[in-house]
Amino acid sequence: MRWEDFRSSDNVEDRRGQGGGGGGGGFGFPGGGAGGLGIGTIVILCIIGWVTGINPAILIGGAETVTRQRAPQEQTQAPDRERRTGAPTDQTGKFAAAILGNTEDVWSQVLPNQTGRQYTPTTMVLYTGGTRSGCGQARAAMGPFYCPLDKKVYLDTAFFKEMEQRFRVKGDFAYAYVIAHEVGHHVQDVLGILPKVQKRQQQVDERQANQLSVRVELMADCLAGVWAKNSNDRFNALEQGDIEEAMQAASAIGDDRLQKQSQGYVVPDSFTHGSSAQRMRWFQTGFKSGQTQSCDTFRAAQL
Ligand SMILES: [Zn+2]
Repeated sequence: MRWEDFRSSDNVEDRRGQGGGGGGGGFGFPGGGAGGLGIGTIVILCIIGWVTGINPAILIGGAETVTRQRAPQEQTQAPDRERRTGAPTDQTGKFAAAILGNTEDVWSQVLPNQTGRQYTPTTMVLYTGGTRSGCGQARAAMGPFYCPLDKKVYLDTAFFKEMEQRFRVKGDFAYAYVIAHEVGHHVQDVLGILPKVQKRQQQVDERQANQLSVRVELMADCLAGVWAKNSNDRFNALEQGDIEEAMQAASAIGDDRLQKQSQGYVVPDSFTHGSSAQRMRWFQTGFKSGQTQSCDTFRAAQL
C-alpha cells in the first residue's frame, strides 16, 4: 500500500516509552529494518500468561473489543504526561497516523453518504508495555482493542512485530487491516450498534454472548473491507498482493487458528472473533461491495 501520501491524523496519542517496558517502536516493512522482539515484551507475555493462566497466544488474538465495565478509579483522566499528542516521527508511528488519517477521510464521506450519520473520529493511543484505558489497564499482549467507554483505539505497536514473528504475517496492508478493523468497531459505536449488543449480551448466557461477539467482530472485518474499497477508489493506493496480505492476517488471527496453536483443538462455542474462513469472507464482502449495509452480520443467515 502506498500510504506515504495519506493525510496524517491529528488524533494520535503517542504514549510509547512511558509504559512498563516492552519492545521498541519499529517494525519491519518489506525492505525496512526490523529488530528482534524485545525481551521485555516476551517477559511480559509470559508473566501475563502465568498470572492469568491464559495462554498468551489467545491474549494476542488481536482486535479485542473490551466490553467490561470500568472500575470507578479508572474513569479519571490520564495524567498530563500520558496525554502527549502530536505527529509521530518514526516509521511505525507515521504509518499508524497515516492509516488512521485515511480512515477519517474515507469514513467522514462514506458514513453520511451511506447511512445518513455523521462520522466523529476516534483517537488512537500508541503504547508500549502497558497503559491506562477507559476500559481498564491495557497490557502488551492484549492485542489491539477498541474501548467504547473512552472511544479510543489502543495499539501496542509491538503487536505488528508479533504478527510477523508468531503468525508469519507481514506487510503494511496486513497492519493497515488491523487498524481498520479497530476503526470498524468505532464505526459500530457511532452507529449505535455496540451499546445495543452489549446490553443484549448482559441478558443472555455465555455461549450466546460469544455468538453475538462473533457477529460484532465479523462486522468489523467487513467494515475494514468497506474502508479498503472506498479508500482505493479515491486514493488508488493498493498494490499487488495487498488484499492477500489482509487475508493472511484475517486468517492467522482467526479464533480457530489461535486455539489450535495454543490447545491443539478447536472449540467453536468459545469463538469470539470468528474462524479464519469467516473473517476472510466478511472482509471480502465489504471489499467487494464498498457498502456499509453489506456488513449486517446480525441479519445474515449464515456467517
Ligand atoms: Zn475486533
